Amino acid sequence: MTETALLAVLVAAVGGLLAGRAWSASREGSPRQGRPLFRASPHYTQGLHYLATGQLEPATHELAKVLREYPDAVEVQQVLSHLHREVGRVERAIELHRALLARTDLSRAERAHTLASLGTDYRRAGLLDRAAQAYDEALEVDPRNVHALEGQQKQFEEQREWRQAYEAQTRLARLRKSDDGLVLAYLQTEMGHEAARAGLWDEAEAAFRTALSLDQRATAAYLALADLWGERDPRRAASILESAIAAAPERAYLTFEPLRKAYAASGEVSRFVALCERLIEQDSRDWRARLALARHLRGEDRPGEALGLLLRALEANPHVLLVHLEIWRTLRALGQLGPEEERYAATVEESALYVDPHICTACRYRADDMLWRCPHCHEWNTFVEERVGPAAGGQL
Ligand SMILES: [Zn+2]
Repeated sequence: MTETALLAVLVAAVGGLLAGRAWSASREGSPRQGRPLFRASPHYTQGLHYLATGQLEPATHELAKVLREYPDAVEVQQVLSHLHREVGRVERAIELHRALLARTDLSRAERAHTLASLGTDYRRAGLLDRAAQAYDEALEVDPRNVHALEGQQKQFEEQREWRQAYEAQTRLARLRKSDDGLVLAYLQTEMGHEAARAGLWDEAEAAFRTALSLDQRATAAYLALADLWGERDPRRAASILESAIAAAPERAYLTFEPLRKAYAASGEVSRFVALCERLIEQDSRDWRARLALARHLRGEDRPGEALGLLLRALEANPHVLLVHLEIWRTLRALGQLGPEEERYAATVEESALYVDPHICTACRYRADDMLWRCPHCHEWNTFVEERVGPAAGGQL
């Protein structure tokens, strides 16, 4: 987790705790007027300052001092446990959360929140059964505890229990009144993949269709649906992929290969050429469409035309490694590589890393492919093509 993301989590945790406290105070009708005493402690102020500036270790020390002075300060104990977990001391977090749960003066909201936090500690420690149990207990205490539901949902995702993750996300969206359509669409897509793997064709199709009804931008669902139809009805597969391009043009390139296959299988390969040409006409900097067309032409034994396209792609996007690699392959097809160049080209092909770099906009995790869910921060739909070099500035 990056520092900014961590800070956001902690600030959200503090915000959640304070809101929970206010909520429980209002529910109990208890006259918690004025400021709690511990907030007058200079260590509390200093701890918050460290927290706000992302200095987690010093924040931990200061808040621990507050807790020694005011052992009853539930919020401080909560934040301190979060901090321990986030800096990797999960056992200490578990200890503190369990100590909190042993208290008899917790409000219902505080108990639910602490159980949910304990669940997240266990999840982080890899103790999944205990995590599931803690989340269940939290929801028994307070069925509307968002913190517990979020943790439970993440755990279902981590265990690839897509249906349960989908149901938990639906409850969350209802509770938070948030529009989670895109995440729900991805979860439905995963459910569809699972059904397809099990040979449940109708179920898979229904899940992919539901995904698209939840959010049309879920390119993954179009790709999966087209893959399902690919062999049975390539014309239909092509039409699905065309819809994907219309719904999310910036991701058109993900459809190129299946679309080329679908057109070829239905005897309409000229439509692929027409599509690439149309995209190039719409955006003269579109190196993806040029590359796709060049590959197609090389496959059709027209490497000369392919090379022309690639050189034009290179003019506008000289930093794109994929284009360079395709140029070497095309030169090879043109018979223009001597043994030395051949050796050089083969070495480049074998050793190139991040040939098609994509990056998570939430945590900066890099991958050599489009990923629908980030393996690092576990968010959905955060990957974009990583653009480096002059193309990023759009100066040409
Ligand atoms: Zn990420």
